[in-house]
Amino acid sequence: MEQVKRRDVRKLSLEELELFFLEKGEKKFRARQVYDWLWNKTLKNFDDMSNISLATREMLKAHFSINHIQVDQMHRSQDGTIKNAVKLYDGKIVESVLIPTPKRITACVSSQVGCSLDCNFCATARLKRMRNLHPDEIFDQVVAIRDEAMEYFDRPLTNIVFMGMGEPLLNYANVIQAIDKITSPEGLGLSPKRITLSTVGVCKMIRKLAEDEVKFNLAVSLHSAINETRSRLMPINDTNPVEDLAEVLKFWYQKTQKKVTYEYVIWKGINDDIRHAKALSKFCKVIPSKVNIIQYNPIDEGEYQQADPENVQMYINVLEQEGVVAKVRKSRGQDIDAACGQLANKHLQE
Ligand code: SAH
Repeated sequence: MEQVKRRDVRKLSLEELELFFLEKGEKKFRARQVYDWLWNKTLKNFDDMSNISLATREMLKAHFSINHIQVDQMHRSQDGTIKNAVKLYDGKIVESVLIPTPKRITACVSSQVGCSLDCNFCATARLKRMRNLHPDEIFDQVVAIRDEAMEYFDRPLTNIVFMGMGEPLLNYANVIQAIDKITSPEGLGLSPKRITLSTVGVCKMIRKLAEDEVKFNLAVSLHSAINETRSRLMPINDTNPVEDLAEVLKFWYQKTQKKVTYEYVIWKGINDDIRHAKALSKFCKVIPSKVNIIQYNPIDEGEYQQADPENVQMYINVLEQEGVVAKVRKSRGQDIDAACGQLANKHLQE
């Protein structure tokens, strides 16, 4: 508990850390050395900072903690997918996933503990939102998966998706700060082109992303381009309807010149008909885009079921005819509840 009382050193900017060293009568450049250990070399404790004197390390330990996450449990799927249950400094748990494919190793990370949105097909929604993750907690999930990629696959991490627990755009500042650290040469140095942030479609915050001219990719969980259906699936659509989404996406494209990806599940009897397929293909014309058709991962015995293959094929035909690029994504890590929408800290409830 003592750890929590001291300040988390990674909450300080480089300038703040410099000021701290100056106040302690130490050289300013020490701050950069410590910063480099923390964000570039991703050290978990002060004792390993070998170019810092013992006395200074002791002084740092007296003032600061490094609230590094701990991988509490690791599960491996038959398909190679790894799910980490990650413990935060206050004991809360989030999940992150390593997804291997022949060409890529992708980290799927969480941005909040739980989620405040009530998408009624998603297991994370059942948890409710407990708190936002701090930038270093998001960063650490990436570091843990980067290390597992080398350990278990002997390959580097290539991509990051913000598709774990939570709504990244409702934790905007911390997510942006984490991405800064992940992409900066002083941090992990990963290209922003390899990062995708997925949102439920919070229009105001998509506008902010565009204004900030971010360099990473955007995905929107669409699931229906018809308001009535979308509102039934995702209550956020009541206040952020499809027309508003279209408007803000135009602004996004104007500012960033970046295509958007739509995530789309096709459910039996809900959106598996030609009317929905046509509405989707029309929506896809608003700005350059592509569609990822995601397989539904059942979360309970419920009203939702994956559509029949013929209906999925019908969608693909309609989209193809209209020149829209669509890919059907295989579900990964279903056997360990690591697939889209299944992250719910289930092991804790068993
Ligand atoms: N809150 C953000 C980030 C989560 S991404 C967002 O909604 O985009 C998780 C993705 O999985 C979203 O596209 C979500 O709609 C989808 N999803 C949720 N539950 C699912 C399920 N049971 N099966 C398949 N996809 C699901």
